[in-house]
Amino acid sequence: MQATDPLAHLACSSCRRPLSPPGTASSSTSLNPASLFSLAPCGHILCGPCTNALVTATHSPDAAPLCPVCGVQGHLVPLDQAPSSVQHCFRPLPDLAHELGTAAGWQTAHLAEQLDFFKAKCAEQKSTLARCGVELKKLKALKQCARVVLCMGIRPEH
Ligand SMILES: [Zn+2]
Ligand SMILES: [Zn+2]
Repeated sequence: MQATDPLAHLACSSCRRPLSPPGTASSSTSLNPASLFSLAPCGHILCGPCTNALVTATHSPDAAPLCPVCGVQGHLVPLDQAPSSVQHCFRPLPDLAHELGTAAGWQTAHLAEQLDFFKAKCAEQKSTLARCGVELKKLKALKQCARVVLCMGIRPEH
């Protein structure tokens, strides 16, 4: 399992120091071993020593450093403080797949429930309409009878 876990192969983009020290990587790895790593806006990750070296080499503390790999300028963010959308990139794929499956299952079940509700509503309306049709027919027949009775009633006597 671990051999196919891409997380086990994450390393500093600059010096290739592994993100998780050897032997501590597991499929349930939290961001803990990565807490010393930083994320550059270009997407490269830097280990603690590379981050420190970069910050030291940047003359002004306010100036954004240049990524030592690609040269893109931008402020570094510690991995454990990165937005959750970024932190998802460092989570085991089976966990994400499981969450995706749970979300898809819940949404599909909710949709099915909605469909059942409207199906039942439609059936109810259909039977009401059918009942109305029967009543209408009865009324029409009654009206016909009334007309006949009325005609007989006003027929002049001989
Ligand atoms: Zn490094
Ligand atoms: Zn870069």
